[in-house]
Amino acid sequence: MKVAKVIVDVPVDQTDRTFDYFVPEKLNGIVSPGVRVVVPFAGRRLLGFVIEITDHSDFDRLKHVEEVLDFIPVLTEELLSLGKWLSEKTLCFQISAYQAMLPKVFKAKYEKEFWLAADFEQLPEELKPLFLHREVITMKDVDEAKVSYSLLQRCIQKGLIDVKHNVYRKETKKHITVLSLAKEQDVILEEIESLPSQASKQKKILSWFLQQKKRVSYQEVQNANHTTRSTIKSLVEKGLLKEKKEEIYRDPYEGREFEQTQPFVLTQEQETVIIPIKQAIQENQSETFLLHGVTGSGKTEVYLQSIQMVIDKGKEAIVLVPEIALTPLMVERFKGRFGPYVAVLHSALSDGEKYDEWRKIQKKEVKVVVGARSAIFAPFDNIGLIILDEEHEGTYKQEDHPRYHARDVAIERASYHKCPVVLGSATPLMESYARAKKGVYRLLTLSKRMNDQQMPAVEIIDMRDELHQGNRTMFSRSLMEKMKDRIQKREQIVLFLNRRGYSTFVMCRDCGHTLECPHCDISLTFHRENSQLKCHYCGYEERMPQKCPSCQEEQIRFFGTGTEKVEEALYQQLPHARVIRMDVDTTRRKGAHEKLLTKFGNEEADILLGTQMIAKGLDFKKVTLVGVLAADLSLHLPDFRASEKTFQLLTQVSGRAGRHDLPGEVIIQSYNPEHYSIELASQHDYLSYFLKEMQVRKLVEYPPYYFLALITVSHKNQIYAQRKTEEIVLLLQKHLSDTTKILGPTPSPLSRVKDRYRFQCMIKYKNEPNLEGKMRKVIQRFEEEMRKKDLIITVDLQPYQMM
Ligand code: ADP
Ligand code: ZN
Repeated sequence: MKVAKVIVDVPVDQTDRTFDYFVPEKLNGIVSPGVRVVVPFAGRRLLGFVIEITDHSDFDRLKHVEEVLDFIPVLTEELLSLGKWLSEKTLCFQISAYQAMLPKVFKAKYEKEFWLAADFEQLPEELKPLFLHREVITMKDVDEAKVSYSLLQRCIQKGLIDVKHNVYRKETKKHITVLSLAKEQDVILEEIESLPSQASKQKKILSWFLQQKKRVSYQEVQNANHTTRSTIKSLVEKGLLKEKKEEIYRDPYEGREFEQTQPFVLTQEQETVIIPIKQAIQENQSETFLLHGVTGSGKTEVYLQSIQMVIDKGKEAIVLVPEIALTPLMVERFKGRFGPYVAVLHSALSDGEKYDEWRKIQKKEVKVVVGARSAIFAPFDNIGLIILDEEHEGTYKQEDHPRYHARDVAIERASYHKCPVVLGSATPLMESYARAKKGVYRLLTLSKRMNDQQMPAVEIIDMRDELHQGNRTMFSRSLMEKMKDRIQKREQIVLFLNRRGYSTFVMCRDCGHTLECPHCDISLTFHRENSQLKCHYCGYEERMPQKCPSCQEEQIRFFGTGTEKVEEALYQQLPHARVIRMDVDTTRRKGAHEKLLTKFGNEEADILLGTQMIAKGLDFKKVTLVGVLAADLSLHLPDFRASEKTFQLLTQVSGRAGRHDLPGEVIIQSYNPEHYSIELASQHDYLSYFLKEMQVRKLVEYPPYYFLALITVSHKNQIYAQRKTEEIVLLLQKHLSDTTKILGPTPSPLSRVKDRYRFQCMIKYKNEPNLEGKMRKVIQRFEEEMRKKDLIITVDLQPYQMM
């Protein structure tokens, strides 16, 4: 009997290896690597992934695989070994790695359905009785009819039958009934002749059908022939027309026409950078390129033409875009060029929609995937190019198990597929640019904007000065003056509020008491709509008190500048201005984001006011002024990247102005105008910024000079958490090399979340072979306490969140 090696869905350390199960005769050949199965485990029935099939086992008394969930593997050989690699590199459980690669739908056991996908006559005889008079059957039907699984599998492989997991139960629109002629053309012609003259409608419909090349829906027939459903139905009953159910993908872009775009003739600069990329594609080389190009320099066109080459070679491409940049505008550029060959994987899609897009990839119906981070696991098996746009974005790092960076996965997959990776950015990550300078990546540069457009002029305003001059508002005099000017000229304004690490906290003006979450070490945020105070970490809510809970005075006020407050100030000072506010609150509903942008694009507003989410990708002709309020708020975060993030953000926002004929202007308001990240961003000078920041990083011993690992330990009992962290530090000191620095234990910047106290230990290293293995060993010592005492230890290699 065959033996299946299975990774079971229990994420604890003892189970992070394969378990052996016999494959029952009936499932022979179906249970294969990459297939999900149900197996008995510790008295339960659990889901598992088959990793390998062998002929023997070192254990005796094996149990049997109970059920198979897939007839076609959901993970390829490559993805199976990638999962193993991922679990080693990020110290996660293998099961977590595999689950991260698949749409959420695959985590659960959904009812399988088998759909007739070809003509009934093509089915093997054994299956015909099952599909007589119907197009869908269930697993239960298959089992009752005692049909052999391998026969079923062959039909699936040949495309006669399609397997679908029924995730749609609640979603209504999924199938459409289509009609086509049921008989040969000359038979129909005869029928038309012989129909009685009262049946003129029916005659008309049949003649119309003779001219149709494709299957059509009831609605289409009704509209074209001004007829009713029952008239059509009677033709079906007579056996002249036939019905068939067809799947419609719930395409989120359904009904949208994407105008076909043609490749541009590349500029000299674009030509220079695309040559080595195309060469690597041509010669199947797994090289990593860093494409450094200012905003508007034509990077996207370089991506598009490189992808074209990949498609022409019969291969596939993955394009990663940060979640918030995955706007309809962005999607349009890809769909416009490659039409139906493009799948889009976006976190705003419903589970069913994500599953549909994933199936298009698996069934080889698309050649290009455009998506956020997890699209890096697209189940393509012939990848010719991987692109990460805006490669500096922190969202490429997953903060949850598995804590992977999409760039590392991209490079790993590229080395398997022997294809290039292109990392693109106007403000590359320090680490990336340093690697490019060392020759680890190959640097490609686009230094000019299209049509030699100037970068917008940037003015920095010292807000301390404004205060000294008696201006207590949140808008500097210069910004206010310019806003008035633009509104009068019917031009548009983007106001950007840098809110990272900042919120509208509540403070008593009398005693200085601030309101904090009772469970977390963080101030509560005021929300105006319902006068509630909220904790952004645990969701705790309370009503805004009338009096200060500490001194009982009624001087309680909220501070800080939320978008709502800016909006209010705008209405006071510019009562005639039309403002659109975009933040998490106004864009929560599906489609709201797009609606607001369309409104602004149609010039139905003068000012677009928003947070991070408006920093990217926007491109409006009439925007000639960009204002940045509170540019430096992100400078003071307990994060060694604070300055870099500020620089990136300011550069990006500045890029929003003057992208077309009208020249643009940018105003940056700051309390630290002399800080180099603000000054150099205003000069659009990435290189000087890089050099300056490298000096700082060297001094404080941070990346790119050192690698980092962050261990966070949390527990309800503060002393216990601290003691465990100390133990970890001691163990690490014993195991790691002398040149490695181990810092801690210290309380985490966020020292308490959901009533758990958090401590951390930071490791800085230059060269630490097999660090992952050593760390795993150390953490394993605490396995029992983690299981029994609710101790949580997390390890984050190359962390992005330092909190
Ligand atoms: P980036 O991605 O670097 O920000 P884009 O690819 O968006 O730059 O290019 C900026 C603009 O220039 C876009 O409107 C794009 O359509 C246009 N563009 C790009 N390449 C060319 C070209 N070779 N000729 C003419 N227009 C181009
Ligand atoms: Zn809280």
